[in-house]
Amino acid sequence: MPKPILLLNCGSSSIKYQMIDADTEGVMAVGLVQKVGDPTPGTIDHEVDGEEFHDSTYFPSHTEAIAAVVKMFNTHGPDITEAVAVGHRTVHGGTEFNSTTIIDRAVINKLVELSGLAPLHNPPGIAGIRAAREILPHVPHVAVFDTAFFAELPAAAYTYAIDTELAKKYQIRRYGFHGTSHQYVSGQAAQFLGKDISELKQIVCHLGNGASLSAIDGGHPIETTMGLTPLQGLVMGTRCGDVDPGLHAYLGREMGLDVAEVDTILNKRSGMLGLCGKTDMRDVEAQMLAGDEATQLAAEVYIHRLVGYIGNYIAHLGGIDCITFTAGIGENAAWVRKMVVEKLGYFGAVLDEEVNATRSKQPRRISTPDSQVEVLVIPTNEELAMVRETIRTIGA
Ligand code: AMP
Repeated sequence: MPKPILLLNCGSSSIKYQMIDADTEGVMAVGLVQKVGDPTPGTIDHEVDGEEFHDSTYFPSHTEAIAAVVKMFNTHGPDITEAVAVGHRTVHGGTEFNSTTIIDRAVINKLVELSGLAPLHNPPGIAGIRAAREILPHVPHVAVFDTAFFAELPAAAYTYAIDTELAKKYQIRRYGFHGTSHQYVSGQAAQFLGKDISELKQIVCHLGNGASLSAIDGGHPIETTMGLTPLQGLVMGTRCGDVDPGLHAYLGREMGLDVAEVDTILNKRSGMLGLCGKTDMRDVEAQMLAGDEATQLAAEVYIHRLVGYIGNYIAHLGGIDCITFTAGIGENAAWVRKMVVEKLGYFGAVLDEEVNATRSKQPRRISTPDSQVEVLVIPTNEELAMVRETIRTIGA
């Protein structure tokens, strides 16, 4: 008997979903709803056993979008009523939620209270939870938090040097995000190396459209680049990462903008987009090869920030056994990995250029046998990690 888990990842205008059999860990269905909350018609794409089904209609809110997901399952299978649980990707757990949590009314109320910490991410997540609970009321729903893995960061790492009372009142601290991915990939890296995770000093580079690094000592996170929000740290597709905090006030004053407008500039119009007009690293590479100077500089800024954090983390870890690249850019952009690893020669990292340049979807080692540091590429699988978390939490 399969043990299907439905996974929902609700963004502000999209819903990604999968149904995975927790026993075989095989994908039973995968889909995407787009243009939720849009005045124009949205689309839903549903894939079962390699066969694709499409539909287009209006999704005024997440309720209609989730209803459309259920309709797709009812029409094209698999049977959604056989789902034993629903796992909801939930971005921000604040200080309240340190691990995956079964959702009840009180949990939803707490998530609503936490919305101020993640105004772009938590409200659509809550809308998705509400809609899914209405449609699938008889199975447990669990929230899997992006922040949970980093709940055990040391206080010296998560504390901002601001007024303590203010920090306490408004729950201001570093939380870290992409935790599900960092936890999964660091576990897979240990497995790949045939080592116990407790023996390893690791750095995981999750480089996707959003990007973050983590330093993991013996399986425990000791540092990560994202902060109170996912804006801090690395250069990302559209987010600036680290800037002087004084920039907010300066932009506000000089441009006569309110805080929301400054926030939008730094979240949506910065990063690689702001530097060279492109967010996708394939386009960045093409522009670089065409000799575009702004793009060359953008790539250098991207790598500079990454290498700086890696050096910082090696110091905090007191050494390094393994550096792993993952997510869309980490798994696919060989030139990014090359530019980073070439800067890490001092630490004894040596890249096998041929293996690095060979495309693959498999976990692989891209360092040479005599490299002092293992450099790996491990595909992330946040959905599988969520399924495992969901099963562990409901005790099935
Ligand atoms: P993610 O957020 O993990 O889905 O990563 C998405 C990003 O991965 C895209 O915006 C691209 O920048 C990058 N990406 C995906 N495929 C490739 C590829 N073949 N080469 C370079 N970058 C890629």
